Amino acid sequence: RFITLEGVDGAGKSTHLDWLVAELRSLGLEVVQTREPGGTPLGERLRDLLLSEPMRLETECLLMFAGRSEHIRTVIEPALAAGRWVVCDRFTDATYAYQGGGRGLPAERIAVLEQWVHGGLQPDLTCLFDVPLEVARERLGRTRVLDRFEREDDAFFERTRAAYHARVQADPARFHLIDSTRSIEAIRTELAGLLHACVA
Ligand code: C5P
Repeated sequence: RFITLEGVDGAGKSTHLDWLVAELRSLGLEVVQTREPGGTPLGERLRDLLLSEPMRLETECLLMFAGRSEHIRTVIEPALAAGRWVVCDRFTDATYAYQGGGRGLPAERIAVLEQWVHGGLQPDLTCLFDVPLEVARERLGRTRVLDRFEREDDAFFERTRAAYHARVQADPARFHLIDSTRSIEAIRTELAGLLHACVA
């Protein structure tokens, strides 16, 4: 099975990622943990560029999908074919949210690349960690140095969040929306229930 984690910056996605993978492993499953942008040696180099180098929006989107193509063909699909579970920190929904909603690339353009690069692959489950702006800003402010996307303004945040919500509307069966303003413990309990149902 293929699980992706998504959310606006500061939603606490990273906090839950390692725990979620450990939980799946404790159930006896073989799990590949990976991320986007990144996930392959080439993808990690593209990630460095994407997070630091200003570039045109189309370039940014094409590099995201270039890295994704490499990632899908050399890591994700082989793992799934071997019966492993794959947990990926961000995937194509992030492109709809950031390059689409946030930066304004029309979703139809992204959909063309998605069709080409995915070749039918879709996550079985996408956990969307959701928080309002004030909570995200407070969390980001006290944890780390911000990358170029995290320094964007409030309107960018709201557009990104709205684009994530539109993804949920378009494909509610795939998404699990998590109210990430709650305590870590409460969210873990919810995730544990979800995973156990998924494994059964
Ligand atoms: O998931 P993580 O926070 O490590 O992502 C790194 C950065 O890349 C984030 O600031 C995120 O907003 C940005 N990003 C993006 N477009 C994507 C995926 C990630 O702008 N498609």
